[in-house]
Amino acid sequence: MRFCSLSSCSYANSIVVQDNNTCILIDCGLRKKDIKPFLSQVGLGLSDIDAILVTHCHIDHVYGLKFICQEKSLPIYSTANILKKLGENIRFRTTPTFIPFGNCAGNTIGSLSVAHFSLSHDVETIGFILSSNGERMGFITDTGFVPASCLDAFQAVDYLYIESNHDPDLYKKSSKPQHVIKRNLGPAGHLSNEQCSQALKSMGLKNCKLVMLGHLSEKDNNPALALNTARRHLSPGISLVSAPARTPGCWSDDQGLRNTSASRKEPGGSIILNFYAL
Ligand SMILES: [Zn+2]
Ligand SMILES: [Zn+2]
Repeated sequence: MRFCSLSSCSYANSIVVQDNNTCILIDCGLRKKDIKPFLSQVGLGLSDIDAILVTHCHIDHVYGLKFICQEKSLPIYSTANILKKLGENIRFRTTPTFIPFGNCAGNTIGSLSVAHFSLSHDVETIGFILSSNGERMGFITDTGFVPASCLDAFQAVDYLYIESNHDPDLYKKSSKPQHVIKRNLGPAGHLSNEQCSQALKSMGLKNCKLVMLGHLSEKDNNPALALNTARRHLSPGISLVSAPARTPGCWSDDQGLRNTSASRKEPGGSIILNFYAL
């Protein structure tokens, strides 16, 4: 099993997860113009995607769904409530195929098994453990705190994608409106770097090979700060990287990803940090 971020920030979120038989997107908050180029950058096309898993209905996670559905009929999985909200909030031009998770703990999408967990956000939001061929990947983003059920269940994951949204000190100087700051720092907001770090400590992560930090605020956080804070409670044997904003990162099985940071020169000359490892 491997995974790769197409974009991870407050602007747009989308992650690809793939095993030998099945390839899914978790969320698609991408702009229309970015969907095909970003997939192509990681060696994929729309024809490779088998399904989309949705965490919640915020626009940075679902904006691109209607564009994908216009071109390809893909099943969209989530809870019945989240799918109902999706249907109400998004004007799909073609009728999407919604598949609600059953009440039982395990659901399958192709060869991937999916267990979902309730998170704490200002709309219904879920995290996941995806399993395939004896490997498990935990996925947790957009939550004001990590619920105890996740801290327990995520202890045995092999890979973890987890939100590390903001640094509270940077937030004190933020130009965001007070009500937004209050919401984001509260129990139905987003995980701070410190909260993320504490969650990593509580999970223990004895079998984990790689932790990817995601959904970093572009204004109220930076990769070095998030990575340094997370590293405090993470054993040295576990690789730690942050997913880049507004551009695809590297696949989790990319050998270079484990040891160094890498950059890519854009045609205009600007350097895009492709990932940042610590
Ligand atoms: Zn979000
Ligand atoms: Zn959200």
